Amino acid sequence: MTEKRDEADQDRATCFHEAAHAVFALRVCGGWVRYVDADEYFCASGVPNYGGEADRLREAMYTLAGPFAERLDAWGETRSEPWDELALLHETESLELGSDVHGLMTSLERADDPETEYRAAVEETEEQVRELWPEITAVAEALAKRRRLDGEEVESIINREETP
Ligand SMILES: [Zn+2]
Repeated sequence: MTEKRDEADQDRATCFHEAAHAVFALRVCGGWVRYVDADEYFCASGVPNYGGEADRLREAMYTLAGPFAERLDAWGETRSEPWDELALLHETESLELGSDVHGLMTSLERADDPETEYRAAVEETEEQVRELWPEITAVAEALAKRRRLDGEEVESIINREETP
């Protein structure tokens, strides 16, 4: 595999990752998107979190959606980390999931039973990523071409996909 090919793969992964955060913010978490940018590896968005269990679950799903979409596109499966491994990643600050791990653990640590909440979030996220795959793919493809989409553009791409 050439270096150029690797770069293209990495860029595709980034586009799916950030697109999934954006689609989840809008369609799963009741949040907002200001913009999503493939070159910044960033989705400027927010999801409501007042600290309750439902809020934590939504926040965890928002976070997990990025890496799960990236892997589903590349491998056809999400290969979620077992809880122990995630806790270890958090401690060692592994960059595999980048800052996503930190955000996720910070949120889950407030739960009475973080492991159970994590499992619930993993299951629900996998289901939703598959269900929203047409929307995630459409946003990822637009992002790959245009590099940056604002919230309204993401919204209109998603709405087009949802039209029967
Ligand atoms: Zn992410």
